[in-house]
Amino acid sequence: MIAQMVRDFGAKEIEPHKMQWDEDQQFPVELFKKLGELGLMGVVVPHKYGGSGFGYHEYVTTIVEISKIDGSIGLSLAAHNSLCTGHILQHGSEEQKKKYLPKLATAQWIGAWGLTEPNTGSDAGNMKTVAVKEGNEWVLNGAKNFITHGNSGDVAVVICRTGKPGESRNASAFIVERGTSGFSKGRKENKLGMRASETSEMIFEDCRIPEENLIGEVGDGFVQSLKVLDGGRISIAALGCGIAEGALDAAIAYAKERHQFDKPISSFQGISFKLADMAVKVEAAKKLTYRAAELKNQGKPVSKESAMAKLYSSEIAVKVADDGLQIFGGYGYLKEYPAEKYYRDAKLCTIGEGTSEIQKIVIGRAILSE
Ligand SMILES: Cc1cc2nc3c(=O)[nH]c(=O)nc-3n(C[C@H](O)[C@H](O)[C@H](O)COP(=O)(O)OP(=O)(O)OC[C@H]3O[C@@H](n4cnc5c(N)ncnc54)[C@H](O)[C@@H]3O)c2cc1C
Repeated sequence: MIAQMVRDFGAKEIEPHKMQWDEDQQFPVELFKKLGELGLMGVVVPHKYGGSGFGYHEYVTTIVEISKIDGSIGLSLAAHNSLCTGHILQHGSEEQKKKYLPKLATAQWIGAWGLTEPNTGSDAGNMKTVAVKEGNEWVLNGAKNFITHGNSGDVAVVICRTGKPGESRNASAFIVERGTSGFSKGRKENKLGMRASETSEMIFEDCRIPEENLIGEVGDGFVQSLKVLDGGRISIAALGCGIAEGALDAAIAYAKERHQFDKPISSFQGISFKLADMAVKVEAAKKLTYRAAELKNQGKPVSKESAMAKLYSSEIAVKVADDGLQIFGGYGYLKEYPAEKYYRDAKLCTIGEGTSEIQKIVIGRAILSE
């Protein structure tokens, strides 16, 4: 039912506009308000905080179906649900949950989550943005970049250094509301793909926030972030599955309709074998992703499984989108056909929320310590 609802919504509200949003790099805030009305901005948030109260299966289905239509809407939906909302849901106090989750789950507010900085991406523990306690306030200074909704977000969870560089447990997480003095918008990036998903800087200059905006304890920020990313990676895996499945569906339809040498190109084994390989990859990626979702639903450790799902789905999304474009031939290179957008959007999956190399580090560590 959720898959059908998302497909119907996407056909009406996303499909007709997606290429214009892509061309203009427009982040369609109004669309996200409508997604909020459908309950898709707080998919796993319990009813008591204004969410839909679903589990990770329904969440994965939502991201897959949206991303089949438009990866950039899938990315923004994933970042809002898993990162900002997910961080407050998993680690926030009861007061913080009551204050922020109802607004986030209904899309009254759009959420952002800032870990990455210009010089610290994979090596996020070396961050330079600092928070210093002064009286009953925290004072934030520094800049985050590559942040999904860094400009449009109404509230951000920001990870800052609160200890000395190189020390363990030297980072803490804070909630910063838009409009707070010293919290400003930075440059919006011009991207290869995922162009309707806003990616921008967040700047903090003597930004003062009340002490109650600290999430959890001082020093918990990095550990909290790793847990948030365990869930977030399931959503990027789902994003990869959706993009790959969308590219596959488009290639199947085109291969049946395009004739060369007086035959549909699908009748050439070179094409049908390619489609078969693509279909197996999509199916395998979905199995890994739903397996990670199941473990998450059961509250079991999921770092290794979410990293496996994220790594495989991302890599196959790039490969499937590439093969899909090849099946379209020259038309695959044109913006009037769907293949090129899948091709451009897919690449983000191997980078965001930890690159493929970082997923291999997580998986390698896990299997070597078992
Ligand atoms: C569209 C988009 C949206 C994003 N949204 C957010 C967001 O909302 N919030 C947020 O905090 N961040 C966000 N990011 C940032 C993203 O998580 C980082 O780009 C990513 O973690 C990689 O960091 P980096 O770009 O600094 O690359 P680097 O860390 O500089 O990596 C460069 C290369 O070196 C490799 N590498 C690095 N370390 C190792 C190692 N130890 N072993 C092997 N290889 C290694 C990497 O795999 C990569 O190939 C987003 C990025 C993009 C592009």
